[in-house]
Amino acid sequence: MSAATPLPFLHFALPDIGEEEIAEVVDTLRSGWVTTGPKARRFETDFAQFLGDSGLHCLAVNSATAGLHLALEALGIGPGDEVITTTHTFTATAEVVRYMGADVRLVDVDPVTLNIDVAAVEQAITPRTRAIIPVHYAGLAVDMPALLALARRRGLKVVEDAAHALPTTVQGQLVGTLDSDATVFSFYANKTMTTGEGGMLVTRNADIASRAKVMRLHGISRDAFDRFSAKVPSWYYEIVAPGFKYNLTDIAAALGLHQLRRAHAFAKIRVGLAQAYREALADLPLILPADAPAGESHAWHLYVVRLAPQATCSRDSVIEHLYQEGIGCSVHYVPLHLQPYWRDRYALKPTMFPHSQAAYEAMISLPLYTRMTLDDVHRVAKALRQALAR
Ligand SMILES: *Cc1c(COP(=O)(O)O)cnc(C)c1O
Repeated sequence: MSAATPLPFLHFALPDIGEEEIAEVVDTLRSGWVTTGPKARRFETDFAQFLGDSGLHCLAVNSATAGLHLALEALGIGPGDEVITTTHTFTATAEVVRYMGADVRLVDVDPVTLNIDVAAVEQAITPRTRAIIPVHYAGLAVDMPALLALARRRGLKVVEDAAHALPTTVQGQLVGTLDSDATVFSFYANKTMTTGEGGMLVTRNADIASRAKVMRLHGISRDAFDRFSAKVPSWYYEIVAPGFKYNLTDIAAALGLHQLRRAHAFAKIRVGLAQAYREALADLPLILPADAPAGESHAWHLYVVRLAPQATCSRDSVIEHLYQEGIGCSVHYVPLHLQPYWRDRYALKPTMFPHSQAAYEAMISLPLYTRMTLDDVHRVAKALRQALAR
């Protein structure tokens, strides 16, 4: 590369917003209905259709964090309860448990998939355990048949953090349609589809759905006045609980309507980029991310490589070299057991989470998003090859 024509910075992640999304947002703005209205409702209907299961309730919310909070609230999780989740996740997965005054039991991951270790979950169950929050890390499904069987056997609730998992399958079934109590997707800017900020709470349990619907908007009960709808004036409403402000705006839903239509096309591009990385990096001293079992879909929200034991440079020096080459990278995640709040509250030590700790120390998240080209992949591979040769 000549110094006169430096390549543009290759961002770690970028949203893929098309003209249809833009036109739909403009239409929303012109319509005068900028908060929750017909487009948010249509987004929910379309999402249920995307999942292809008429038994599902889909509730649009303004973040996945909000959706996870609503799910735990609807399940009645509270003080004295424990909820088990993976240490190898974003803090949102666990913080919602603390919102409810319950306690978090973090467990280690499987060293190959970096997904929650179901055997470790079983060992962490106590008489106080009420629920499990699996995270489909990077877009690869957790061993849900084993986890759901364990939950059923021990009478535990399951709320899937599916922030990375659109579209991910388990035994041919899309995440969102499994037999868990609730599943929550994220439409944050860097996820596989985006509404800027947003999320979707999915459940087949009508009680969870109706409670979450009330708590999503200030504890205003529709059912309370639907019963008298003929007599009740339009300005009347009833508050049945101190609810939250978690509704999705129509401006955001306008983006979601078109992003969802493109979700399968997006997924195809991501699969192609992941395949290109696998081929381009095959001979380097790297542990490449686990693929989905044959016939299953991996959403490839993240492409996380780990330095192999024979690599002679440090993880940090590789990231620094990539940055010098104009390539953005990240680390997913600094595990929760190292974060001051979680570490100190539960007296956590790295030795309690050997697989997550080892993965964290060796891992680099490479750029992977639909606006990337195969040339971009080869540029990243070349820079990685240089860094690893140093
Ligand atoms: C992004 C993310 C969340 C939070 O999503 P928001 O929509 O930003 O609230 C939760 N869990 C995981 C694993 C995530 O990656």
